[in-house]
Amino acid sequence: MSEVFTGNFTQQEPLPEASIAAAEVVLRHGRLHRYNVAEGEVSETARLEEDFAASTGAAYALAVASGGYALGCALRACGVVPGEPVLTNAFTLAPVPGAIAGVGAVPVFVGVTEALVIDMDDLAKKLESARVLLLSHMRGHICDMDALMALCDAAGVTVIEDCAHTMGARWNGTPTGRFGKMGCFSTQTYKHINAGEGGLLISDDAEAMARAVLLSGSYMLYDHHRAAPPAEVFAGLRYDVPNISGRMDNLRAAILRPQLKALTRQAGRWNDRYTRLARGLADVPGLTLPVRCAKEQFVASSFQFLLLDWAAPDVIAVVDGCAARGVALKWFGAAEPAGFTSRYDSWRYADTPPLPATDRILAGLLDMRLPLTFSLEDCALIARIIRDVVMQVRGTP
Ligand SMILES: *Cc1c(COP(=O)(O)O)cnc(C)c1O
Repeated sequence: MSEVFTGNFTQQEPLPEASIAAAEVVLRHGRLHRYNVAEGEVSETARLEEDFAASTGAAYALAVASGGYALGCALRACGVVPGEPVLTNAFTLAPVPGAIAGVGAVPVFVGVTEALVIDMDDLAKKLESARVLLLSHMRGHICDMDALMALCDAAGVTVIEDCAHTMGARWNGTPTGRFGKMGCFSTQTYKHINAGEGGLLISDDAEAMARAVLLSGSYMLYDHHRAAPPAEVFAGLRYDVPNISGRMDNLRAAILRPQLKALTRQAGRWNDRYTRLARGLADVPGLTLPVRCAKEQFVASSFQFLLLDWAAPDVIAVVDGCAARGVALKWFGAAEPAGFTSRYDSWRYADTPPLPATDRILAGLLDMRLPLTFSLEDCALIARIIRDVVMQVRGTP
């Protein structure tokens, strides 16, 4: 009998009791809007911003309605204008080019390497064509940030980081989101902390953050913030920056604050699961694990492997064979986008020339969620199943 996995790849853990208790307090007083506060009260949203700034070391933080909103808000706050080209990763998820399109700008895609990070050579070639790079730390893979910042700084290109998959992660000790001018995070259910929806933005740049606060829909209530620039920075902007409403509310913030406190511990649990899978899939002929640099302190919430240069029917046989045994893999090489695995060439609003080196990687790229509801034994079992199926399809005994 071959082994079968029966776990659910989309089931996260329940929220901690502290989140449930904090939510109940907000529900009972009813002041869910972030600027609806009692005399002397500091809203949960303002406190979350303060907590997040402290946890990342950023001077400023802003909580917003979603990760995608944070990206669009950062692009606007950095002065991106309609029609302008914006560089971004070819290997990312749809809300990233979507945020660029949302401000009327034009995504220009940069290729991906076998390590699943942005291709520095391709980036170097394209840096002259844009003023801004929206860098996606896609699936938690972090490129050599020292090299990337050196390249971008030399070219005068502003970096905005999409940290939807890197909350709590670092490069050489520095948290992601702290390298570029702004860092954007998501608190959607499938990311590292879960409020259903939500986003966070960090920056050390007072003017960009004051713009972001105004953009997010602060009316003239920005003095309620505790992790925002001082009032004088707003004075020069308040008549010129439109309100593009996208605030976070106190219920979500209340749910998130206890989870943020637990993030480091949760990150360790995620990485234990990742390590168990990686160990189980080491030395499978034909299967490559993306190389991770020692300076990359990632927080795994998903797992990727490559079947490089395999024929498409064989990759499909692996996906189907794993599915039959309860292991849900998503393939980034499929001709038609399915679920969340759309590719750069399915975002047809951006007119993109082919990227053959990237196509080769995506054609062999398999992706799996790694919820904390999986035990370490579950991960070992999943690895055994993948190993079995890969060996079978390859015809290896
Ligand atoms: C989820 C995600 C986003 C957007 O976050 P939402 O909160 O869902 O809007 C951005 N980038 C990547 C890579 C994501 O996976």
